[in-house]
Amino acid sequence: MSGARLPSHLKFLCVVCPNGCDLVVAVEGTSPPKVLEVTGHRCPRGVDYAVSEVERPLRSIASSVRVRGGEMSLASVRTDRPIPLESVFGVMEEIRRCVAEAPVRIGDVLLENPAGTGCRILATRNVEHLEKRGCQRG
Ligand code: SF4
Repeated sequence: MSGARLPSHLKFLCVVCPNGCDLVVAVEGTSPPKVLEVTGHRCPRGVDYAVSEVERPLRSIASSVRVRGGEMSLASVRTDRPIPLESVFGVMEEIRRCVAEAPVRIGDVLLENPAGTGCRILATRNVEHLEKRGCQRG
């Protein structure tokens, strides 16, 4: 009997397009894990997706940042690029601590390089200054 380790097999859905292929991925259990073979894909993008998910999983974040002095207390935000999965918690923590000053415009950079990821946190909603929408007295 050989002492070689058998690869483990992971099964997951490819979400790159609506076909939703069921991927079976043979993985060598090293750290970080390495993809040995991908089956079940209908196109090469499935292989790229499987390798990325196993060897360097990335995620985009959509969340909200508190706004001081705005007509609304929160502005929705997102990362400008996918970040490593292991950095999500640290980035979310910085987003949670961030307070932006109104007005906030879509595309404003509210955080630079959170958790050392190199990404930027961009506003995806306008929040006007409170005074601009104040009561009118007649
Ligand atoms: S493997 Fe290709 S065809 Fe299948 S879901 Fe992924 S991108 Fe779509």
